[in-house]
Amino acid sequence: MNYKKNDSITITIEDMGHGGEGIGKIDGFPFFVKDAVIGDTIEAKVIKAKKNYAYARLMRLLQPSPHRVEPRCPYARQCGGCQIQALSYEQQLKFKENKVRNNLMRIGGYSEVPIEEVIGMEEPYFYRNKAQFPVGKDKDGNIIAGFYASRTHTIINNRKCFLGAEINEIILDKIIAYMTEWNVEPYDEVTGKGLVRHVLIRYGFQSGEIMVCLIVNGETLPKSEKLVESLRELEGMTSISLNVNKKRTNVILGEEIKVLWGQAYITDSIGDVKFQISPLSFYQVNPVQTKRLYERALAYAQLTGSETVWDLYCGIGTISLFLAQKAKQVYGVEIVPQAIEDARTNARLNGIENAAFYVGKAEEVLPEKYEKDGIYADVIVVDPPRKGCEESLLRTMVDMKPKRIVYVSCDSATLARDVKWLGENGYEMERVTVVDQFGMTVHVETAVLLVRKP
Ligand code: SAH
Repeated sequence: MNYKKNDSITITIEDMGHGGEGIGKIDGFPFFVKDAVIGDTIEAKVIKAKKNYAYARLMRLLQPSPHRVEPRCPYARQCGGCQIQALSYEQQLKFKENKVRNNLMRIGGYSEVPIEEVIGMEEPYFYRNKAQFPVGKDKDGNIIAGFYASRTHTIINNRKCFLGAEINEIILDKIIAYMTEWNVEPYDEVTGKGLVRHVLIRYGFQSGEIMVCLIVNGETLPKSEKLVESLRELEGMTSISLNVNKKRTNVILGEEIKVLWGQAYITDSIGDVKFQISPLSFYQVNPVQTKRLYERALAYAQLTGSETVWDLYCGIGTISLFLAQKAKQVYGVEIVPQAIEDARTNARLNGIENAAFYVGKAEEVLPEKYEKDGIYADVIVVDPPRKGCEESLLRTMVDMKPKRIVYVSCDSATLARDVKWLGENGYEMERVTVVDQFGMTVHVETAVLLVRKP
């Protein structure tokens, strides 16, 4: 069957794609439909037809899915932040679990996946500790802040994001009131003129500390004392700063931070481990679920206090410091030098002395240390970016013969690929847990335990 633009179709949505789009088939031919959820029967209109699949637009809900819910956020359909708010949270978790299971079967080659109960959030809203709001003007010249509409740079004027901390809205109101009163212009991407580009807010859910950083196309902020005065009224305000970014780019943050008031950082904790967080540092956005994910990784590592552990792709050392409490020695490896500096600071802050950190590519540092220094590991933990591990790294890991490998992943397709390779080279997948760190979005985290075959 050949489909073409503007064809009308009726389909039932049976699956969801990477971007959260609904997928339905007619005689095996798949259609991708944004905003349609699993279980919907819909009327849709073809917007782009390819040889083996087509994109269609949701025109009418003929039979809404029993899993369909009314999104809390009125902008859920336009905004690029969430993809699956219209799906019940229970079903979101099922979707994520299925996705991981299917990848481990299809790509990983396992006929049965030892998957444990998914770890969902108690409150799948208001969980993010970090938000970056672009600032601009609407067509009437009013200053607005919010989020980019999906795949565009059009700002949706929305200061109440249901994923972020509830304080964000109050902070943005204060900043816009200050800008309006003192004629501080928002930055205009088209002309490159204007001052305030973005507002970065970080909130320590455990500590209650707040950081506000204005990203500006300049060196100073006029009447900044007025803004400081207003923001300081908020309980927990700890750090107010400027970040200088005069480049005409989509990269949000520049390199230089100027403190306007308070400290250059806030402190927050995951479990018993404290972290110092500056505007530029990486920090997990959902510390509640991160704690659960890392507790699971720790359980999988089965540490007794006598083990040597390598934590590859360690970032600011979140997992390393977590593991160090139960291991003899932990070594972390990370490519970003600033993150390693943060990791060392955080180790000191917590009085942790059995964690050491190396800057470099995991696939270079580990083989070098193994070949030159003959390093050893009882357990290796990896938490790579989406593209997963280089095969050469997996090779070194296997050569080092750790008893256990704990693989933490944010992309279950590359996880499955690597688990397959490890399976063929002596490591059996024994346990799998899916942890939801990002409710309302399609992202999913997984922890896997691989054990060396006798
Ligand atoms: N566990 C960390 C985050 C891991 S995210 C934490 O909680 O902080 C993946 C990390 O891998 C990022 O910090 C990224 O900078 C780093 N990275 C990317 N490629 C790498 C490579 N080839 N070698 C080492 N680290 C790498």
